[in-house]
Amino acid sequence: MSVKNGDVSIVRMTRGIVYLVGAGPGDPKLLTLRGQELLREADVVVYDRLVSPRLLKWCPSKAKLVYVGKETKKHTVSQASINALLIQEAKAGRKVVRLKGGDPFVFGRGSEEALALAKANVAFEVVPGVTSATAVPAYAGIPLTDRALSSSVAIITGYEDPTKSGSAIRWEQLATACDTLVCLMGVAALPGIALRLIQHGRSAKTPCAVIEWGTHPRQRTVVGTLQSIAAQATRAVIRPPAILVVGDVVRLHERLDWFGTKPLFGKRILVTRAAEKALALSEQLEALGAEVEHLPAIELMPAHRNGGLRGIVKNTSKPDWVFFTSPEGIGWFARMLKPYHKDVRWLSGCHIGAIGPKTAAAIEEAGVHVDFMPTRFSQEGMLEDFPRRVLSGKRALLLSAEESRDVLEAGLRQLADAPPTPTSGMVSAAASAIAVSPLT
Ligand code: SAH
Repeated sequence: MSVKNGDVSIVRMTRGIVYLVGAGPGDPKLLTLRGQELLREADVVVYDRLVSPRLLKWCPSKAKLVYVGKETKKHTVSQASINALLIQEAKAGRKVVRLKGGDPFVFGRGSEEALALAKANVAFEVVPGVTSATAVPAYAGIPLTDRALSSSVAIITGYEDPTKSGSAIRWEQLATACDTLVCLMGVAALPGIALRLIQHGRSAKTPCAVIEWGTHPRQRTVVGTLQSIAAQATRAVIRPPAILVVGDVVRLHERLDWFGTKPLFGKRILVTRAAEKALALSEQLEALGAEVEHLPAIELMPAHRNGGLRGIVKNTSKPDWVFFTSPEGIGWFARMLKPYHKDVRWLSGCHIGAIGPKTAAAIEEAGVHVDFMPTRFSQEGMLEDFPRRVLSGKRALLLSAEESRDVLEAGLRQLADAPPTPTSGMVSAAASAIAVSPLT
């Protein structure tokens, strides 16, 4: 800021920053609150292969998303270019989230990125994540320590820096120094690791587990011994990402496998509901262990066939009853009233019917009282329960999907015992609030 002769000019320093954020091991719910908060504010997100794509939903739509996914031996973008990108974006004044699988400082090359940022004088913060080293065994029901079975843990990388001569890992000491060994590794390294541990004194009978895609609905666990595990993993066609757990704690897997025993675990379920409705169902299915794919087969949109609404809204005499047949109906109806400069207050004086509790809840949420709901939540149920004669000689408005069955419409017309056009009085049915159209 500079002050000159009472003339104040403020120089705004837009200082960019890089947040090295741990994305957790795969289950998108294992992101930290701080991580979520930073994603919501990010200008740029630079993310890796093992980061759940579902985390990106937290980013603002204007955020620039850069995938720098690394696969074994196939680095899409070199580490040097990633460092350069982070520096460049931060120096342009942007808030950069560098989203890394697990914890950025556990075998994530987070330290290399932080050092490059420090060297370039770029501000940075580190947000720890739930590392796969602990979370993946946890999801396989394998505690890393246990008072009876293990008092020490080592986390080892099974990838060796190929430029190093010889092994940087002191297998001869590690083999027997810790009760539990967790090895993050390329699957190809498994036979060599098992061999080295045995060579350096670990019993060939030590229980071992290889866990593939831990914390994901497709998680697989192969249990064996140091002697057998490599062959078993090959037979099971285990692919990266996978980790190896060595030690007596593996024995607890059988009793503590809480994730792999969920009722829908291992099932892939396709949810074809409209996107707006799919989320709640998917969350319930996922909580039961299912892997859920979305393929919306229907889309909600205003009906073509709602020309009748104009007449109904313009008509000074309102219907006696308005029936809603889906939770979306009230929202759609409110939107459709807007062009006529009206809102849900238009319903005042009308009796309201809802096909089921979800529809009723949505209507009540909009501040409108529901007068009738059947005990069986279907078109037929509604007709069965609706008191006879109440509609007789009255006008009713049915808000339903354009392509829904017309059982209710026909039944209501009968109850009203009236001719079908809105203008001739009685029932003004099927001014559809929504249409459901196949998306093929
Ligand atoms: N920083 C990360 C580790 C990166 S190294 C962390 O803290 O988790 C990548 C290795 O981590 C993979 O090769 C694999 O051994 C392990 N890994 C990461 N996610 C995994 C998962 N969901 N299931 C099994 N192993 C996983």
